[in-house]
Amino acid sequence: MKVRILGCSGGIGAGDDRRRLRTTSMLVDDDILIDAGTGVAELSLDELAAIDHVFITHTHLDHIACLPLISDSVGDLRRQPLLVHAIEPILKILRQHLFNDAIWPDFLQLPSPEEPFVRLQQLQLGATLSLGSRRITALPASHTVPAVGYHLDSGSASLVFSGDTHVCDDFWREVNGIDNLRYLIMETAFADADLQLAKASRHLSPQLLAGELAKWKGGAELFITHLKPGSQTLIMQEIAARLGRYQPAMLNDDHVFEL
Ligand SMILES: [Zn+2]
Ligand SMILES: [Zn+2]
Repeated sequence: MKVRILGCSGGIGAGDDRRRLRTTSMLVDDDILIDAGTGVAELSLDELAAIDHVFITHTHLDHIACLPLISDSVGDLRRQPLLVHAIEPILKILRQHLFNDAIWPDFLQLPSPEEPFVRLQQLQLGATLSLGSRRITALPASHTVPAVGYHLDSGSASLVFSGDTHVCDDFWREVNGIDNLRYLIMETAFADADLQLAKASRHLSPQLLAGELAKWKGGAELFITHLKPGSQTLIMQEIAARLGRYQPAMLNDDHVFEL
């Protein structure tokens, strides 16, 4: 299993090096997306048409901005509907607020109800979906809207992505039960100066992350994602000061994990 990071920033905008920041999306092999933020725009038409499954952590725009655009671009190049997997509360929001014929065509019914471009597939929290040898499980998360993280298991190794989350004991109970965990990707959206904002928006800051990692039994490489544009250096300095023993690394676009 290959996991390529298409986007991992908490926002958009180019840095001094003119490299554009892209929001959350990861490509698993060539046919699965985890989230569909603006990083998806990096894919070619052929790569977009090859995607059969999208797993959604939650419905904030930075995680779904490109979801409605995928089918518009390549729906007619595909023989099968794009399958969008999520827990039911997330699917409900997608039906009501995205594919609603108001801000976007209802591709759940178009071009025909019998053969739509998009189908929604309900996932149960904690239940594992197998796609070939790849196993994908939704993990608990705690955010301002219904949210999950994901556990990807190739059979020989696992990667866990927290999604957007605040303090969440249930997440760590599941993570600590994974025997072959190789990579752990944790969000840390804000610096500690923005602790109150992190709490109000149900994200993590380095101080909150330290409290969360105290619940972790360890044993995997730690990557930090979803840093606020402009605060990346400060957030990583604060994390290094508190959590240097974990040797945390900032996640970067185009990083490829092999499992
Ligand atoms: Zn969010
Ligand atoms: Zn987000």
